[in-house]
Amino acid sequence: TRHALLASEKLAVAGRLAATIAHEIHNPLDAVINILYLLRNHPDADDQNSLLDLASGELDRVAQISRAMLGMYRESKTPVAVNLTDLLESLLLLLDRHFMQASITVQKELLPDAIITGYPAELRQVFTNLLTNALDASSSGSTLTVSMHRSVHPTGITVVVHDHGVGIDAETLPHLFQPFFTTKGEKGTGLGLWVSQGIVQKHGGSISVESSTEASTHGTTLTVTLPRGNAPFIAAERN
Ligand code: ADP
Repeated sequence: TRHALLASEKLAVAGRLAATIAHEIHNPLDAVINILYLLRNHPDADDQNSLLDLASGELDRVAQISRAMLGMYRESKTPVAVNLTDLLESLLLLLDRHFMQASITVQKELLPDAIITGYPAELRQVFTNLLTNALDASSSGSTLTVSMHRSVHPTGITVVVHDHGVGIDAETLPHLFQPFFTTKGEKGTGLGLWVSQGIVQKHGGSISVESSTEASTHGTTLTVTLPRGNAPFIAAERN
């Protein structure tokens, strides 16, 4: 039946994912094991500090991967009414310092009370990922826009995060939502967009990307649409 097929598909994906994660975690752990072995056998090596730095960097990477994965499984209770406006306002406040440090102006075009049904911690994770990606891509002096619209199909809320950053070239674009795909080297996990897509789909929504690397129009737009679910809908404009 269709259900059985879906269940087996899910299992197949979970299996592939487990293998990928195990692989990603295995490499840094192997490095740490080797470093500890070295330190034990050469207790008076003069590069001890750099070896310790190396080990702690590798463990940071494992921690980073585990934090990113936790975002997906943290909540398992029933969905609740989520005020997306409040959620975005509080996230922007939290990230304000980072935007200021990078001299990036944030423009908000939010609806007064955009309420949907969902898992607040997971949705926070989604928009944290999108905003920090936009921050990473933006250069000093540029503007980042976070806007909200009511969507009709499905009835719900669309959030658009638009940056004037470097943009994403045509070869990179198809890989964006693949787990562990990153162009940030050691600084990235490549899990942000993949996890975000999983969370948005779990909410019955969709996420899409558009980008340009042209000199005059460079920048990226991430669009997330979330159905309102069974939440009371209070997204009326006030003026
Ligand atoms: P990470 O940020 O750890 O690399 P993500 O899954 O969040 O992982 O993003 C994957 C890749 O997508 C990034 O490495 C980057 O190349 C690209 N990307 C995501 N958002 C943007 C953006 N706003 N502008 C340019 N590139 C982006």
